[in-house]
Amino acid sequence: MRRRQRRIALLALPALVAGVLVTTGPAGADPTGSTAAAGSGRSQLENQEQARLVPIKLAGADMLDKVVAAGFDIEHGLKRVPTGIEGEAVVTAEQVAELKAMGVEVLGDDVAFEWSDEADGGIQGAAARTVQPASHEATVRIARADWFTTKGQGFLYVEARTTEGQQADPIVEMQLENDSGKRTSFGFARTMSRFVDSGQYMFHRNLFKLDARPNQIRVTSSTGGVTTGVVSDWLEDAPPPLTENRGYKSDFVDGYRHPQQLYSRAKEIARQYPDIAEIVYLPNQTNGYQRKAQATIGGTGQAAVVVSSAAWGHEGGNDVTVEFVDRPGADLPLAAEVAGKAVRVLLAKDASGALASTATEVADALRTQSQGLIDRSHPYRTNAGTGIVAPTAGPVALTDSLDQKRVGAPEGEVPRGPVTIPVLRIGKHRDGKKPGVLIQAQDHAREWVPATTSLESAERLVHNYRSDRETKNIVDNTDVFFILSNNPDGANYSFYNFASQRKNMTNHCPDATADPAQRNSWGVDLNRNYRVGSGHDGYAGGSTNCVSGTYQGPEELSEPESKNIIWLVEKYSNIKFMMSVHSNGGQLFWQPGAYIADGRITTPRPPLGDEAFYWQSASRILGQVKAHRETVVTPENVGGSSDVLYSSAGNVREDLYYTYGIYAFGWEVGGSVYNPATGNWQGGSFQPVWEGDPNLVSGHAETMEYANGITEMFRVAADWGKDKKDPTSKLVPGNGKYRGPVDVRFETNEPATIYYTTDGSRPTLQSPRYAATEFREPGQVFHVTETTTFNWFSVDSAGNIEKNYDPTKNDKRNNYRTATIKIDKR
Ligand SMILES: [Zn+2]
Repeated sequence: MRRRQRRIALLALPALVAGVLVTTGPAGADPTGSTAAAGSGRSQLENQEQARLVPIKLAGADMLDKVVAAGFDIEHGLKRVPTGIEGEAVVTAEQVAELKAMGVEVLGDDVAFEWSDEADGGIQGAAARTVQPASHEATVRIARADWFTTKGQGFLYVEARTTEGQQADPIVEMQLENDSGKRTSFGFARTMSRFVDSGQYMFHRNLFKLDARPNQIRVTSSTGGVTTGVVSDWLEDAPPPLTENRGYKSDFVDGYRHPQQLYSRAKEIARQYPDIAEIVYLPNQTNGYQRKAQATIGGTGQAAVVVSSAAWGHEGGNDVTVEFVDRPGADLPLAAEVAGKAVRVLLAKDASGALASTATEVADALRTQSQGLIDRSHPYRTNAGTGIVAPTAGPVALTDSLDQKRVGAPEGEVPRGPVTIPVLRIGKHRDGKKPGVLIQAQDHAREWVPATTSLESAERLVHNYRSDRETKNIVDNTDVFFILSNNPDGANYSFYNFASQRKNMTNHCPDATADPAQRNSWGVDLNRNYRVGSGHDGYAGGSTNCVSGTYQGPEELSEPESKNIIWLVEKYSNIKFMMSVHSNGGQLFWQPGAYIADGRITTPRPPLGDEAFYWQSASRILGQVKAHRETVVTPENVGGSSDVLYSSAGNVREDLYYTYGIYAFGWEVGGSVYNPATGNWQGGSFQPVWEGDPNLVSGHAETMEYANGITEMFRVAADWGKDKKDPTSKLVPGNGKYRGPVDVRFETNEPATIYYTTDGSRPTLQSPRYAATEFREPGQVFHVTETTTFNWFSVDSAGNIEKNYDPTKNDKRNNYRTATIKIDKR
């Protein structure tokens, strides 16, 4: 261990810090379970290690051509001078020597870096102006530099880090410049935005509107770091969607669908297409679209009594009346009498004939003397109930308020009571041998587009199975499970009563928050109710307050809706992919999705192979979304959800990925679309107008475009299931003699995770895993200063191991990869 540390120093120390949590590794890393993943598909970046801005002078255009052809980055600020051409090179110390060997004159002190006035646009801070020694470790790295277009407008998204980003005094500023295409100079200097989350510096990031596609960007920090990076395309080259195939049928859903409609259509599909579809019923019924009948009566404040029926409203609770009666006379005791469903509380009188029953006393009498009609009765909120209760004008009817329809609610009665949720299962071979994909929509009740998007995706599968070759390929090679609404109780409440309902209908609230004025706030956030990285474990983003929008429930998996998901993935262990479909925001997420706020300790980061596979899948899925009407989910909204949005403790994705090794995506469909008429992004909503401007926010358009993306996820799963090809990898540079320290890194031909050793031992699954320099960045760089042998193997996202090496037993062939970096110190 010692020895290895002495010989190999990681350039990017933060990667070590971030790596500490990954030591146990998620289930997804076990290739024997065919669940490991890997990948590429990231921005291609270069010159990221300790490059500096060095002023140079070239003898003339010939030398300029030669130097550019050799790959040097000297395209900024070139100017003719009487004796040649002056400019600046972004170079490492080694490259300075090479430039000199080519005859380039290095101006000034070549081991130091000084800010030029030109590069100083907008950056404040005196420290930045001082000369930095060559050993200065201030480093800037570019995590992403993405170009995309939407509706005729170009955008550049940049994410860059400085190693000194956490520094508070002074705060390190970063400046971005871009060129305007190959062989154009850098310019357009802008100050970047520093992104800090839970007290931790994340990176600097910005989205800029640009008319011309840049070839390179340059980022400089106020502490002397500088780097350049090549701009990558984001979703620019997506193939045409299946909807453009000849004869392909789509556009089946013509309006929002409440749960009864969704489930009845799911069952109808199973009847119509019995060869490829069936219904799987989830075992735990929901707690129901139902409530106790209630009223708050007897006065206000300390005199108020909150009354709840023992029976559900639709099962008799709504028939109960409660009356507080003022009888003539004095010295009368408190009593209650019941006739049918009418409860009369005879209020007490004191010796002077004044009313004398407190709210607490009346509440007690209702609970004990109502012959079982009232089982919950208490003072209002946190009051002690010391006020004297006033008589009512007559009988007060209790109500569950579910018959109070909101404006615009659909016609018809809503079935009350618990619901059995049907899962629509589509696949030609539903024998557990094909990769399963779980599409889980509408955990959150008010999110109506996820349900229509999922239904549209299902319709496309069954209607095109016989006529479209690519659809047949999906249905023949996957096993898809659609939960069209995983929160039917809450969804009914959202459709019929309270449009903004998010949670389910379960009331776990104590007396202090159980009065009917709180009824729109009860319920459990079903996407905070799971077991990994949960609020109960101390992770952030789930609330213990039962009236909070993110209430996590009294315990993990307290709710039938979340229990069902666990049941499903345990029963159908071929489920390897899952999409938790939400709205709105235009985001695509995976792990990590939660962190402990103090120190911002996330759930373990997926191995590099999984991370790369997620990115690769994301660009396929989002490319198909874009293909419909050029809606772009921007790269700043893609990745680990706690990195790009917020921590959501106890979400379903963390549980399915870490417990079962399922690639678990979260999706926020809908969201902003760019409006070229105004030059601004138009924000989305939970229930956008169904048929709006087809180019702007519209439920119908979102359903169609995001159904493209779900369909692509099926193709990702089908491809994954057919992937029997071993990955290949290499060390760059590889075997050889080097005259001094050398920087090396691994490359793979597809998303793959690398396990390696540097002490000569055979690599196993317990060996160190090749990691990212930092999250959202490419693989780390090893600075090798002494002769070192790397032994390694790679595992792809489908679990195939390079050269069929078996890391779990002593494989006599020793069929792993090896390379020796020989350092000659002469
Ligand atoms: Zn949601």
